[in-house]
Amino acid sequence: MNDQISTLGLELSELHDRQRAVQKSIGQKTPAIQREFQSANSRHQLKVAAAKLAVLVPLLALSVWLLAKKGVSLYSPLIYGFGFAVFAKVGLVMHEHFPTRMFKYILILASIGVVVKLLIYQLRSKAYPKLEWLLKQYRDAYEHFLCPCCEHPIRRGSLKNLFWTRRSLKKLRVPDHLEAGPDEPYVCPVCTTSLFEECPSCKRIRHSLLPACTHCGASKSLLPES
Ligand SMILES: [Zn+2]
Ligand SMILES: [Zn+2]
Repeated sequence: MNDQISTLGLELSELHDRQRAVQKSIGQKTPAIQREFQSANSRHQLKVAAAKLAVLVPLLALSVWLLAKKGVSLYSPLIYGFGFAVFAKVGLVMHEHFPTRMFKYILILASIGVVVKLLIYQLRSKAYPKLEWLLKQYRDAYEHFLCPCCEHPIRRGSLKNLFWTRRSLKKLRVPDHLEAGPDEPYVCPVCTTSLFEECPSCKRIRHSLLPACTHCGASKSLLPES
C-alpha cells in the first residue's frame, strides 16, 4: 500500500509540474489571442453595423424627403411617425455598434437638435402656414373649380347645375358655350369662405384667395393678420 502511495505521489507531483507548464504557456499566449479576438470582433461589429445602416440610411433619406415634400398635409402624422421611428432605430444601431463615448455625446446632441428643430418647424407651420404652400393649395383648388377650404365644388355660372369632385372633374361635360352672364360674388355654401368678391380698386369680380385681381392687378395679402 505504502509503495503504491509513494508511486501515486510521484505521479501527482509530475502532473502538477505539467499543469504549471501548461498554465504558463496559456498565460504567454492569452494576450495575443485576446488582441486577435478584439480586432476580429470589432471588424465583425462594423460589418453588422454597415449592413444595418445600408437598410436604414435609405429609409432615413426617404423619411427626410417625405418630410420636405409632404411635411404639411393630411398624412403628416404618419410621415412624422415614420421619420421618428427610423431616426430612433438609427440611433440604437449606432449606440450598439459604435461604442465610442465621444460619438454617443455627438449623437445625443445631434438628435436633440433635430427634435427641437422639428418641433419649432411644426409649431411655426401651425401658427403661420407657409404662403407658398397656401398659394399652391388655393391655385390647385381654383383650377379644379373646388373650394380651397372644404373641396366643395364652386357651382357658379354655367356650372351651376353640375356636381363634381377632384376625380370626376375630367369626365365632366362642361358646356361648350360658357354663357358670360354677369359675374357675381360667390361664397362657398358649405364652409362660408368667400371665393369670389368685388375688387376694391376696379369694382369687378376677383378671386378672393389669390394674390392679384385678374382685371386691374391690385394685390392683397393672403395671410391672415396675426
Ligand atoms: Zn368651402
Ligand atoms: Zn381689380
